[in-house]
Amino acid sequence: MPVIVILGGGFAGMAVARRLERRLRPDEAEIVVLSRENYTLFTPMLPEVTSGELEVRHVVTPIREQLRRSRFVLADVDEIDVGASKVKYHHVLTGTSVVQPFDQLVLALGASTSTFGLPGVAEHTWALKTLDDADALRNHLVWLLELGDTIDDDARRKRLLTLVVVGGGFTGVETAGEIVELFRSVLRFYKRLQPKQVKMILVEAGPTLLAGLPAKMGEYSRRVLERRGVEVITGDGVTGADSSRLNLQSGRRIETETIIWSAGVQPSRTVAKAALPRTKRGAIETQSDMRVAGIAGVWALGDCASIPDGEGGVYPATAQHAIREGPCLADNIVAVLRGKPTKPFRYNSLGMMAALGGRKAVAQLPGNYVITGFIAWFLWRTYYLLRLPGLDRKLRVAFDWTLELLFPRDTAELRLGERQTEVKHEEMLSRP
Ligand SMILES: Cc1cc2nc3c(=O)[nH]c(=O)nc-3n(C[C@H](O)[C@H](O)[C@H](O)COP(=O)(O)OP(=O)(O)OC[C@H]3O[C@@H](n4cnc5c(N)ncnc54)[C@H](O)[C@@H]3O)c2cc1C
Repeated sequence: MPVIVILGGGFAGMAVARRLERRLRPDEAEIVVLSRENYTLFTPMLPEVTSGELEVRHVVTPIREQLRRSRFVLADVDEIDVGASKVKYHHVLTGTSVVQPFDQLVLALGASTSTFGLPGVAEHTWALKTLDDADALRNHLVWLLELGDTIDDDARRKRLLTLVVVGGGFTGVETAGEIVELFRSVLRFYKRLQPKQVKMILVEAGPTLLAGLPAKMGEYSRRVLERRGVEVITGDGVTGADSSRLNLQSGRRIETETIIWSAGVQPSRTVAKAALPRTKRGAIETQSDMRVAGIAGVWALGDCASIPDGEGGVYPATAQHAIREGPCLADNIVAVLRGKPTKPFRYNSLGMMAALGGRKAVAQLPGNYVITGFIAWFLWRTYYLLRLPGLDRKLRVAFDWTLELLFPRDTAELRLGERQTEVKHEEMLSRP
């Protein structure tokens, strides 16, 4: 029986697995999913986890719950050998190394944060890509308020309460808006802190926010953020950072101890090591049916892939596209297994949306029609709630949102026995 191996349990990988399960008879192929977490992360809601609006667990869906007959392995993929039709991984818990042969391989490993080698940036910034990043950042924001409320040194307090978000794309704009909302909601509990002492700065190297979308969306986002006290800097790139400042091309030095980096991503490191055709940006080059150019039986989609759109460009790296690419790629694998021709991936974007916090958002609808404000925010919430996999998750998120309308955000800084669990698990794994 042919073995189909899917690398990555994100939007793209899970969309492929679910469709394959539906299309293939159990005796037609074995499906194996390898991913380093046992859940799929719903990234559009990550900024709301950072601001404490949503509970950490509510934005993830366990992979095993989403699969019916595929074999799931909690695995960190180390090596992809397309020549030998094998991938090498180690089990995340036991560290055991395993070589997994494949007949069809699906690369859906997503992307990781890129700091473009700028000096000091990787060491001194906070990323917002994984659930771990969001939880760590949320705890850090509360920690900053606690420390700011405690110390007497005014200069240090100013630096502590100056936060910079780098990157004026969706993630940066949404994160800046959400963090401002968190501070607005809880500052009254910190008696020694004044709202004017907290400063949020959004830095974008390009001339506008939300580049690539109708100008109205970027302009509206800027107005909303500025009205809430965010300083928006455009047309000024970052040259470097250290433990207490961010340096900009214009020569400006921003005194800060918290820089949130959402200025760029690069395809997964595992992909970068493999012998695969790649674009300058590092994404895997595919044909229009998502087959990796020139390699039979190997496919790629989602953020790690560059898929031609049939009009001379490539599809953008968004969850919206990854979810649509999955079923088409799965259908193409089924076609290959049954000796039928494959089909190109074709999809017209439904538009893009960014939530700005404070019940405001911007949305681009089909036909380049732009809506802003409360209606766009309501649309954002409805759309993403419907897209969140699993009824239980939908209800949990809807409940979090309802509570947030009535109560301030939670300022409990939780570090729930991380070290204790680590030590105990290490000891258990070392047992014979
Ligand atoms: C904060 C944030 C907000 C966003 N908001 C939106 C939005 O509003 N709308 C939108 O359309 N898009 C949004 N995106 C983009 C969207 O998240 C991506 O386009 C989408 O996740 C791509 O799906 P993917 O399956 O290709 O990658 P991912 O979802 O990143 O999945 C990749 C999977 O591969 C696993 N993996 C990686 N390397 C290995 C390895 N070596 N071994 C084993 N497993 C591995 C990862 O753990 C992960 O499970 C946002 C992204 C971020 C970070």
